[in-house]
Amino acid sequence: MENIKSEVLNCRKCELWKTRKNPVVGEGSLKARIMFIGEAPGFNEDLQGRPFVGKAGKVLNELIESIGLRREDVYITNVVKCRPPENRDPTPEEIEKCSPYINRQIKIIRPEIICTLGKHSTSYIFKKFGLPHDNISRIHGKIYRVKNLFYDLLVIPLYHPAVAVYNADMKSELVEDFKIVKEEYMRLGGLDENSNTNRREKWIR
Ligand code: SF4
Repeated sequence: MENIKSEVLNCRKCELWKTRKNPVVGEGSLKARIMFIGEAPGFNEDLQGRPFVGKAGKVLNELIESIGLRREDVYITNVVKCRPPENRDPTPEEIEKCSPYINRQIKIIRPEIICTLGKHSTSYIFKKFGLPHDNISRIHGKIYRVKNLFYDLLVIPLYHPAVAVYNADMKSELVEDFKIVKEEYMRLGGLDENSNTNRREKWIR
């Protein structure tokens, strides 16, 4: 992960390096069983070089705590590591150029559950794992199983926490979806690190 960090800090593969203040690599436990993946840093994340630290980050923290976990128990990052100007959506080209970093992070963490946050990260992760994509409003909170020779994991698409900042109904939707995340997390052994040893062996090292 340290190699990835140093590569991202010096990366100029797409134009976003010109306007970023700080790239956001990601943070959390390298032994995390749940990985939360958003789309790209925003204003506050760019200032601090940390993922989900603004208002949306506060919502994400509350949601993580609502299922009995702390930020330190999970790993949080984005598909695109530098902030797109004016918080515009990342372009397909930017996503493609930045995606080797998230792919390597997934291989290092080897999560048992990937929660995508928002439509862009959902679209990227679904494509990566060959899952049938649909509008986030139709697939959020559903459980998708990825099973092949190399890994065995669940993908649970979620709305981006930013949608809940000023919208109580959307927050309720997210709270309900996080209950599903918790159910699956507990079914896989919860915080008991020994329970996932065998499952992790299924990953290529
Ligand atoms: S967004 Fe990704 S590919 Fe583009 S400069 Fe930043 S780290 Fe490099």
